[in-house]
Amino acid sequence: MFTRRFTLFKLFGFEVKLDLSWLVLGFLVAWSLAQGMFPSIVPGLARETYWLMGVAGAFGLLFSIIFHELSHALVARRRGLRMHGITLFIFGGVAEMADEPRDAKTEFLMAVGGPIASFVLAFVFYQLYLFVGRDTPTAVSGVLYYFAFVNLLLGAFNLVPGFPLDGGRMLRAALWGWKKDLRWATRVSAAIGGGFGMALILLGVLVFVQGNFVTGMWYFLIGMFLRNAAGMSYQQLLVRDAIKGESVRRFMNPQIVTVDPGITVARLVSDFVYQSHHKAYPVVQYDRLMGIVSTDQIKTVPPPEWDRRTVHEIMLPSTSDNTIGPDTDVLNAWNRMSRTGKSRLMVVENKKLLGMLALSDLMKFLALKFDLERASG
Ligand SMILES: [Zn+2]
Repeated sequence: MFTRRFTLFKLFGFEVKLDLSWLVLGFLVAWSLAQGMFPSIVPGLARETYWLMGVAGAFGLLFSIIFHELSHALVARRRGLRMHGITLFIFGGVAEMADEPRDAKTEFLMAVGGPIASFVLAFVFYQLYLFVGRDTPTAVSGVLYYFAFVNLLLGAFNLVPGFPLDGGRMLRAALWGWKKDLRWATRVSAAIGGGFGMALILLGVLVFVQGNFVTGMWYFLIGMFLRNAAGMSYQQLLVRDAIKGESVRRFMNPQIVTVDPGITVARLVSDFVYQSHHKAYPVVQYDRLMGIVSTDQIKTVPPPEWDRRTVHEIMLPSTSDNTIGPDTDVLNAWNRMSRTGKSRLMVVENKKLLGMLALSDLMKFLALKFDLERASG
C-alpha cells in the first residue's frame, strides 16, 4: 500500500528515506497546529502566520523523528550491528536493522538511546523557548514551545513498555537478561504491546464518538498498527528460530524451467507459461544466467507485438536484488524477501543458476515445523 519511498539524504552513512505516506502525517500535523494549537497558545496572529507556524511545526516533527531514529542507529552501529538506514512513514520512523541485537545489553542500550535523545531535544527547545520569552508570546516562541512538547511526547510515548516500542524493547532486554529466554521475553513484551494497541483502539473509538473525529481516528490507526507490529514481531522471532543456520541450498528447488533470451514473447507464452504454469522463468544462455522474465513483464507488451519482441528485450537483468548464493543463511534470504517484497530469488554460484528459492516453499516448511512442534508440546 504505502511503498513509494525516496531518499532524503545521507547522514553519518545512514540513508534517511521518506515514505510518501509520511506526507499525510506532515499535512495533518501542520493543519491541526494551524487550526487548533497555535491560535490557542499565541492568539491574535494572521491566518497565514498560523499556517506558516504549522508548516514549521511539521518540519520540526520531521527533524525530531530523524533525530530520535538516528540515535538508535548510532548506538546500534557502536555496538557492532549493521543498519540499513532510517525510514519515515505515516506512524513516525523506524531504524532498519540488518542484524538483530545479539545480547540483552545491546538491545537495551539501542532502545534507550531514542527516548533519551528526544528528552534532550525537548529540554533544549524548552530552554530556547524560555530564552525567546514566554511572557510575550510570538510566532517563534509558539513554534519552539511545540518543538519542546512534541519531543517530550515522542520520548514518553516510546517508553510505553510494549514491544515493538522502545519501552517494550527495554522490557524485553531486561526479561531476556534475567531468564536468558528470548522467546519468552518477546512473547511477554509483545503481549503488552498488543494490549496497549487494543487500549489505544478503544480510546480512539471513545474519542471519536465524543465528536473528536481526527484525534479518534489517529488513536485508532496507531493502535491497529501497534497491535499488528506486536503480533508480527513475535512471529518473526519464531521464524528466525526455525530457519536460522540453514543454508539456501537446503530450501531451493533445483528443478527449474529456464528460457533462452532469443525466443519471442509469443513462444514464451505458448511453450512455457501455458505449458509449465510457472509465473517466472530465469533466462539462461550458454549455461550463464542473464536475468528473469515473469508474467509481469509480458503484460507490459501489447499482444500484437508478442511475435516481434524477444525475451531478451523485456527480461529483468540479474542483480543482487533477485539472486542469492547457495551457502547464504536462509534467514538472510527471508529478510531480503520481506524487505524487497520479492517472493522468489534465483540461487546462483559463479554466474551459474542452481535453482530457485520461493517464499511459498519456506512458508510450507515453517507450517510443517510449527505443526510438529505443537504436537510434541
Ligand atoms: Zn525509538
